[in-house]
Amino acid sequence: MTSVTNDFLNCFLQFMNRKGLNTTSQRCAIAAAFFDLPGHHSLEEFYQHIVRQDPGIGQTTVYRTLKLLCEAGFASEIHFSDGIARYEVAKPNSHHDHIVCLSCGKILEICNQRIEALQRELAASRDFTLSGHVHNLYGCCADCRNGVGNDKGRAAEPEDLRK
Ligand SMILES: [Zn+2]
Ligand SMILES: [Zn+2]
Repeated sequence: MTSVTNDFLNCFLQFMNRKGLNTTSQRCAIAAAFFDLPGHHSLEEFYQHIVRQDPGIGQTTVYRTLKLLCEAGFASEIHFSDGIARYEVAKPNSHHDHIVCLSCGKILEICNQRIEALQRELAASRDFTLSGHVHNLYGCCADCRNGVGNDKGRAAEPEDLRK
C-alpha cells in the first residue's frame, strides 16, 4: 500500500467513524484497493479486480463501499454516453475532464485552463456560482482509426460480463 493510499484510507476511516458506520475489514480492503487502482472503472470491473484479491467479498459490499467513498468525497462517479457508471479516485485539486473513444472505450484525462476559465466566465455572465461541471469529449482514437485499437472496449463489455 502506498503512503497516499494510507492517507486516503485514514481519512476514509475517520469519515466512517464520524458517521457511526462499521469500519469492517472488507470495507477497508475495498477502499485500499480502490485507492491503489488508477483509471475509470465500472462497478463490475472493480468488483472483478477485488474478487481476484479476496473471493469472499460480495458485489453488494463493493457497491455500498463505492457509494460511501463517493459520499465522503474520495471517489467520483462519472457517466459517459453508454450509461454505465464509472468510478475514479477523487484527489484534491485534481479536476479534469475526459475524452472517450467510442470505438474501444479508451478514456483519457484532459484539462485546459482556457476552457476551465471560459466555463467560469460563462457561468458568471449568467450570474451563476459554479459548484462543478461535466465536460466529456467523444470521438475515435488514433489506434482505432489505424485499426490497431484493443478489444477491451465497450463493444466487448457484455461478453466480459458473461465470463
Ligand atoms: Zn479507440
Ligand atoms: Zn478521470
